[in-house]
Amino acid sequence: MAFVTRFAPSPTGPLHLGHACSAILAHDMARAAGGRFLLRMEDTDLERSKPEYEAQILDDLTWLGLSWDGPVHRQSEHIDSYNARLEPLAARGLLYPCSCTRSDIRAALAAPQEGVAFTVYPGTCRGRGMDSRRPGDALRLDLAAALRVVGSPGFTETGPAHQGLHRIDPALALREIGDVVLSRKGEDIVAYFLASAFDDADQGISHVIRGEDLFAFTPVQVILQRLFGLPTPIYHHHRLIRDDQGKRLAKRDDARALAKYRAEGATPADIRRMVGL
Ligand code: GLU
Repeated sequence: MAFVTRFAPSPTGPLHLGHACSAILAHDMARAAGGRFLLRMEDTDLERSKPEYEAQILDDLTWLGLSWDGPVHRQSEHIDSYNARLEPLAARGLLYPCSCTRSDIRAALAAPQEGVAFTVYPGTCRGRGMDSRRPGDALRLDLAAALRVVGSPGFTETGPAHQGLHRIDPALALREIGDVVLSRKGEDIVAYFLASAFDDADQGISHVIRGEDLFAFTPVQVILQRLFGLPTPIYHHHRLIRDDQGKRLAKRDDARALAKYRAEGATPADIRRMVGL
């Protein structure tokens, strides 16, 4: 099997050490395997994505000495196609329109969901037919219906924390993931995991290499792959680079931005050392 991987940042802020770790690891694994390393901008959040962040990301990657194969794939250029590819799921009874706001959802939930990566949707609009869809409604996946189609699909993980074959447990998925939003058409938005599942398949990605924080999204992506008849790549979630207090780095932590280390005179070799590579 050809080794094809990608680095898929969202250009909503500067790259920090965690991104550098993902990018370097994916690049080095691809090069070591004689494979391909692709670059994808996950810029479907049209409000927060900025061309200046993309320019900075390209500059940081080049500075790190990473080269990517082929042109940069920009998700914002394919939103209509992602939405069009989603529609057949509606005809299969797997989607429903939802007009709940974030505060409706919070109010309907009995308790905050500690330790759960998703805010599990309480199902208020489930049962609404697609013919009741109004402009601006989101489209949600009816997860119970989807799981009846796909059963308990599995995926292989090679990362340090969860190495092995994982089977999705439908009961757990219903409890921890729920009916996720896949698109909000009026606003031209598609969910990250939908666009990413299509792109991974279209770009022939054999290995997804990314931070541990995205492990929780993998079951949704695998369920979507099965619903659309797409292949499931091998996953490798690497340890997170944490700040001095042990907190995960976020885009807003500009203190850890690569740009800052560059300005202070760090070399690409210093960055590799700092992320443990
Ligand atoms: N766009 C995601 C992020 O920047 C990464 C998605 C992925 O690698 O699958 O967090």
